[in-house]
Amino acid sequence: MKNVLRAQDKNDAMSDNETTLTTTTPGNFIRHIIDDDIAANKNNGKVVTRFPPEPNGYLHIGHAKSICLNFGIAEDYNGTCNLRFDDTNPHKENAEFVQSIQDDVRWLGYDWGKQHFFASDYFEQLYDFAVQLIEKGQAYVCDLNAEEMREYRGTLTEPGKDSPYRNRSVEENRELFAKMRAGEFADGSKVLRAKIDMASPNINLRDPTIYRIRHGVVHHQTGESWCIYPMYDYTHCLSDSLEGITHSLCTLEFADHRPLYDWFLDTLEAPCHPQQIEFSRLSLQYTITSKRKLTSLVEDGHVEGWDDPRMPTIAGMRRRGYPAAAIRDFCVRIGVTKSDNTVEMGVLENCVRENLNEHAPRRMAVLNPLRVIITNYPEGQVEQLTVANHPQNETMGTREIPMSREIVIDQDDFLEVAPNKKFKRLVHGGEVRLRNGYVIRCDEMIKNEQGDIIELRCSYDPATLGASPEGRKVKGVIHWVSAAHGISAEVRLYDRLFNHPAPDAAKDGLDYTAHLNPGSVLTLTRCVLEPTLDEAEEGEYFQFEREGYFCKDQIVTADNSPVFNRTVTLRDSWAKIEKQAAQAG
Ligand code: ATP
Ligand code: MG
Repeated sequence: MKNVLRAQDKNDAMSDNETTLTTTTPGNFIRHIIDDDIAANKNNGKVVTRFPPEPNGYLHIGHAKSICLNFGIAEDYNGTCNLRFDDTNPHKENAEFVQSIQDDVRWLGYDWGKQHFFASDYFEQLYDFAVQLIEKGQAYVCDLNAEEMREYRGTLTEPGKDSPYRNRSVEENRELFAKMRAGEFADGSKVLRAKIDMASPNINLRDPTIYRIRHGVVHHQTGESWCIYPMYDYTHCLSDSLEGITHSLCTLEFADHRPLYDWFLDTLEAPCHPQQIEFSRLSLQYTITSKRKLTSLVEDGHVEGWDDPRMPTIAGMRRRGYPAAAIRDFCVRIGVTKSDNTVEMGVLENCVRENLNEHAPRRMAVLNPLRVIITNYPEGQVEQLTVANHPQNETMGTREIPMSREIVIDQDDFLEVAPNKKFKRLVHGGEVRLRNGYVIRCDEMIKNEQGDIIELRCSYDPATLGASPEGRKVKGVIHWVSAAHGISAEVRLYDRLFNHPAPDAAKDGLDYTAHLNPGSVLTLTRCVLEPTLDEAEEGEYFQFEREGYFCKDQIVTADNSPVFNRTVTLRDSWAKIEKQAAQAG
């Protein structure tokens, strides 16, 4: 696989000819440009960046890359980063998206201070700039409809044709544009276009539309004050200039728009001329980062909302239990380059795993309980066992867990007979250590009428608490919870949302929804958690020993039991599956 950042390369950032990165000094080609600009005292040595989302959806992991880049550069160069909503498309945008974007950027750990703007703050100034263009003879009102406009535009190999309206006088254009603003024309009947060059080899320069008419939409910021709205390319460069942005960082698809960005700023008397620099978008295997497609996953009910823990949105990842620091770490590791590349999901999951391995307190939770009676344990006795919260980090302290005559273990930890020598768990007649507790032996199995094992009768050895006396070998260790003390919970085991590495670029001709993973969530409703988890707060994460990392969800079940989301497994099971698949074929 070419151009894929693999999980095992996790400490090497992607590199191309221009950049080589390490996690400690995240230099990259953009930072090199900025270093040179500062050395040359360009912009008086100042650095001002911006993150410019359109509030037409929730932010996703690709946006995280842009956020970390823009805010990270501002932090490191003692500059500022503006949060600017690019809100020129009112029919797709709304206040919920504005709020979620702010929440997500903040949660990721960044602060825009007072630098909070909307492109719509500049609508009046943008209008004045358009009048300026008209007066310079560099913009005209055009009556071609959308279809005619396409015909006149030409193709990549053929030049376009001049619009019959291109030579309207300055006076006529000024008047018509004022009437457009006053609401005298219907949607689509007229647009304002920049007058550049219909024969330009760059289609973006073939008299692009800069204003269009939109009646009957209520803009989330400006209400109904406007019925004409400026286009993105026109708005973006001028907003950058009005805010005194020094380096305008955007994704590669805007490289062809850069001549237009520069044309507007060179033609108009704009306050300053920021430098546009393009970098590659993040694409992540097994997921999609197209806002349009993410919107349809939500609207068509393939997921339960924008913050569904399977979604690659920041809100989804937060709810899933990904720590913000792990996402920031991921953004550093993947680096910033000019070549398009795809990153393995395992890289992101490893960042999460490493972070949680270090920071998540350990707990015991039985996901598929099997009742175990310890026949020689005194009836009514309860012992409080003191256990460490983290095996390597003493500062995380200890907690007490109750031990009693009746416990639960996981069904997967018992088999009537061992299938092979590798099976180190409990078997009929065999012994196993209860994690942090005693060694037990299985003396008897109780089966129901169908022959399923529904209960075990075991005996324990009181001399084995914590450690075994010399000469006594018990290899297996399993987790458990005291049945009477455990709390019941629902646990959701999440897996990847898609089962194809490139769901929206599969060569099988199928739509991305055909690649949704039908097993992306498995809900377990009979789980038993150790009692300390009763105090867990929403968003708090833990390692459930031997099971994975889990995070307390915002919702509770109908009978008020907590819900925990599996954030990530303990090991990368997909790497193994992919290796097997590669070997097989
Ligand atoms: P849209 O099609 O709605 O414009 P978009 O993905 O460009 O979608 P924006 O809200 O305009 O969404 O993006 C805000 C910023 O985030 C832009 O600067 C954009 O370049 C950047 N960005 C978006 N997607 C990615 C990605 N996958 N990788 C890196 N940066 C991204
Ligand atoms: Mg965009």
